[in-house]
Amino acid sequence: MNHVPSAASSIDSSGASSISTALRRASACPALARIVAARDGGLCRIRLPGGVLHAHEAAAIAEAATLYASGVIELTNRANLQLRGVKAGHEAALTARLLQAGLGPQTPDSTPDTIEAIDGIRNVMISPLAGRDPHALCDTRALAAQILVLLQGEPRFAALSPKFALLLDGGERLMATDHPHDIWLSAMPVDNDEPRFAIGFAGYPSLDAGSALATVTHTDALALLDALLHTFLDLAGPDDTRMRDLLALHDAHTLLQRAADRAGIALQRGPQVDAWRRTPTDATFRLGAHRQRDPQRWHAGGQPLAGRIDAATLRDLGALSTRHGDGSLRITPWQSVLLPDLATNSLDAVLAGLRALGFACDPSHPYAAIVACAGSTGCAKSAADTKADAQQLASLLTHDRLTSSGIHLTGCTRSCAAAHCAPHTLLAVATGRYDLYQRADALDESRFGVCIARHLSIEQAAAQLNHPARTPPDA
Ligand code: SF4
Repeated sequence: MNHVPSAASSIDSSGASSISTALRRASACPALARIVAARDGGLCRIRLPGGVLHAHEAAAIAEAATLYASGVIELTNRANLQLRGVKAGHEAALTARLLQAGLGPQTPDSTPDTIEAIDGIRNVMISPLAGRDPHALCDTRALAAQILVLLQGEPRFAALSPKFALLLDGGERLMATDHPHDIWLSAMPVDNDEPRFAIGFAGYPSLDAGSALATVTHTDALALLDALLHTFLDLAGPDDTRMRDLLALHDAHTLLQRAADRAGIALQRGPQVDAWRRTPTDATFRLGAHRQRDPQRWHAGGQPLAGRIDAATLRDLGALSTRHGDGSLRITPWQSVLLPDLATNSLDAVLAGLRALGFACDPSHPYAAIVACAGSTGCAKSAADTKADAQQLASLLTHDRLTSSGIHLTGCTRSCAAAHCAPHTLLAVATGRYDLYQRADALDESRFGVCIARHLSIEQAAAQLNHPARTPPDA
């Protein structure tokens, strides 16, 4: 493969590659070794490859969150965890404890600088049910692991933004296909040919035809991704951090072909690619119990309120999985938790255990509909305490047709908690007061949709949401 010599990499006397900080992009994103200040203390983000968390890792995080932070743990919309309230002066001890538990990037160079640089770019999204979903077209786990090795092993990729993200979709029924990614690969149904991925940029595999630029064989996918990342870095200026920035300057097909030529890979284009569309997904499969590909095994999942739990809950979740499953958890991009590989006779106990820990397991429960950002207790930008207001809202909602992740409470327009455009958005305007926005339909990709009511209290917002047919007062 024809790699461009990297200005951001170097080889030390031991032969190991190391990261030059000169070209690394400055970032305010929290990471394992980059504790970012927030209103409630430091914020530490723990990236979990594939959203996988083993019980011993959950126990280590719970212990570290109690010792060195507030004990508040958030599940993120990229299927990661973050610890809030990291105590001043305890940042290094927290990072060291998490690394000791095996939660950092896998690299022979464990200097803080390298850990910080490599950790931030490990953004590969796969389904929480990769390898287990009976409706999947392929098992993406092995390729996802190879992509992580690629990201961690090529020093030049440290120049990627920590927000630069890849989606690897195996065609699972439970898949976050509404989260925009810089590069996405989506499995296509297999006919007599070699299995292929549809590929696209700055978006997601769509239910509409025309979202894919081309297809690539499973065999060539890794080499193409490698070439694409190098091509991105070749062409990106200092302010071009995301693929959408590059697409403002370069045609997507030209960019993809440049990468394919670099890797010596033949892409497939034409009517079959143009007509391809992603089969529908269903996020409600993250909740309750469902049979896996192996008919003797099940997965069960639950939703905490607004993606927030405490340290004891995380530890107890790990113990629940050890008792009844394979000792692992899946953190999902819907800010929920899933336990895989359960025997049929353990389902009642697992669902009861999840409910006892405060998780909702029914898709019609208000917890399944609500997402909320950190709010004013954690973020100076927030006009309201969105987490507390989410709790009050959940207690008032009665409408059982609320769709999954259907109500988004956000403290400001940055919209940190929701990567997707929710059907309803409550935008904080003052303490306990929100403007209510409604998305017109599934094709409405405006930020929040149309404002249908202003300056609502939570009681008024609940009344409006419980009666969606009511004529909007100022639409
Ligand atoms: S959406 Fe705004 S208020 Fe909420 S956490 Fe993000 S920046 Fe803070």
